[in-house]
Amino acid sequence: MSAPNSHPDANEALKSNNFLRAIIERDLEAGLTQGRKFAGTPGDAAHHEAGQLDPARIRTRFPPEPNGYLHIGHAKSICLNFGLARDYGGICHLRFDDTNPEKEEQEYVDAIKEMVAWLGWDWDTGGTSHLFFASNYFDFMYRAAEYLIEQGLAYVDEQTPEEMRANRGDFTTPGKDSPFRARMPAENLARFREMRDGKHADGAMILRARIDMASPNINMRDPALYRIRRATHHNTGDQWCIYPMYTFAHPIEDALERITHSLCTLEFEDQRPFYDWLLNALADGGLLARPLPHQYEFGRFNLSYVVTSKRKLKQLVDEKHVNGWDDPRMPTLVGMRRRGYTPEAVRAMVESTGVTKTNAWLDYSVLDGYLRADLDAKAARACAVLEPLKLKLTNYAEIFGSLDHLDACSAPVHPHQPELGARAFSFGPELWIEREDFMEVPVKGYQRLFPGNKTRLKYGHVIECTGCEKDEAGNITAVLASIVPDTKSGTPGADAIKVKGVITWVGVHEAIAAEVRLYDRLFTEEQPDAGGRDFLEVLNPGSKKIVTAYLEPSLASVAADTKFQFERHGYFVADRIDHQAGKPVFNKITGLRDSFGK
Ligand code: ATP
Ligand code: MG
Repeated sequence: MSAPNSHPDANEALKSNNFLRAIIERDLEAGLTQGRKFAGTPGDAAHHEAGQLDPARIRTRFPPEPNGYLHIGHAKSICLNFGLARDYGGICHLRFDDTNPEKEEQEYVDAIKEMVAWLGWDWDTGGTSHLFFASNYFDFMYRAAEYLIEQGLAYVDEQTPEEMRANRGDFTTPGKDSPFRARMPAENLARFREMRDGKHADGAMILRARIDMASPNINMRDPALYRIRRATHHNTGDQWCIYPMYTFAHPIEDALERITHSLCTLEFEDQRPFYDWLLNALADGGLLARPLPHQYEFGRFNLSYVVTSKRKLKQLVDEKHVNGWDDPRMPTLVGMRRRGYTPEAVRAMVESTGVTKTNAWLDYSVLDGYLRADLDAKAARACAVLEPLKLKLTNYAEIFGSLDHLDACSAPVHPHQPELGARAFSFGPELWIEREDFMEVPVKGYQRLFPGNKTRLKYGHVIECTGCEKDEAGNITAVLASIVPDTKSGTPGADAIKVKGVITWVGVHEAIAAEVRLYDRLFTEEQPDAGGRDFLEVLNPGSKKIVTAYLEPSLASVAADTKFQFERHGYFVADRIDHQAGKPVFNKITGLRDSFGK
């Protein structure tokens, strides 16, 4: 698939649906990011002042918290941040926002790196790694907190959590000052150091900014900066028993890394005044270099029929509604990869949706469209029978001289790429066909097998159906037909008889039995968690169906993760975990065209 922005017109189209591009171009034209120094590694004002002019025209970052697996919403943020850096001569950092010791794990760090790379992005630019961990900035954050205390801009509050909540006020009521708010810097500093030194219990007190308890923006009513929490951190171990709050840590991380455009989702809009307040205070004190980063908010990206909250995805896994984070029905990137979705299709979809100031819901069928466009060109073709019924060719020995004779057939690996060559398989006296390709009593317009009708076996002969066999219960166990002589595809007689139906088949003598997992959407509602609904109530009970299918012999030994188009059925992938030589397992990626709701 060609890159969506490889063409100048495509670039214009992208710009028009991405307001962030306009902001960056405005800033570049105004020279706002020029003259910035960058020391090659993150650091404070003195560190960067001693460095070189920043070779990056802009700096962006993707800042996941390593507390779960990435989902399709994160793909939006990844492609946005890395894509803007690529398009404007910038650099994008991969930064783990690992300031919360409780839920973060190395397992998630590794999985996140793997999936950012899978999407095709690289945090190494010109031989320099831009992989950072916020927990490496704890020393600076502590120093910044002491500076704020010294300036009278922060204080240690010993109210109980309930008192703090009550005194914060709400949208209509201004907050009330804490009795600890007027404490002098020296006393606050001593208290804060005691917090750091483990002299106080978890939750006994917090460090707060001193801003304005009457601010109409509740986030400016003396927000918390540090809390006491005795927890082992995945990077810093037991070195700290106080940890910075996200709202304090995040702006500092951006500034130390000299991020120019800090992009986040809409729910952080009300945090922006504090983001600016904090960075300006620290820059005024000479701790952080100017120009400071700016925060811009964009709408969250959602897909229909999925949930994209880490907490809800975790619940699906923990309560075993799915088989793990990489279950092919999950909207996690590991799940989508296992399902057979290609990074090219995910990127194309995400980049096509633009960026707006409102949360966007995209229909799953849009993703299917990009998948088909990508897979059609890449996937080799193969025949597979998913719901097998035996077809017996009653005049086979007459036509071929013996039931043991196998008649060689071939088909192109790809109909539009002849250079890929042909697949070989053979025609024999018994074939597997799809159960739906026979009707004892045809419905109106039915073109396939029914007694007296002629149909073509794709890449093979025309046959005439003569009847069927049934078991005692009346179930159809086999279809009977005779070969019409001299009608094989590719021979001069092939066009002598015109038939309307064409069906696919696999020879019983050479069919490979495979487990095929047919997936459907995980929920029955477009917005499973809309309006606070319990999303578990709308789980689709038919979201996974397993069948034993028969595959053509060219699929005898394919590598895991190889993708195919099973003719007429859609796209399938050899499962990257369970598929083995001698025990093939395939996942359905998507159908050939949108069969949504049918
Ligand atoms: P969740 O709500 O699933 O826990 P999160 O926002 O808490 O997600 P983070 O690891 O903090 O997860 O997110 C990393 C980045 O991805 C953030 O910048 C966040 O704004 C962005 N992001 C997360 N979900 C979406 C989404 N649905 N659309 C766009 N960006 C998103
Ligand atoms: Mg988050």
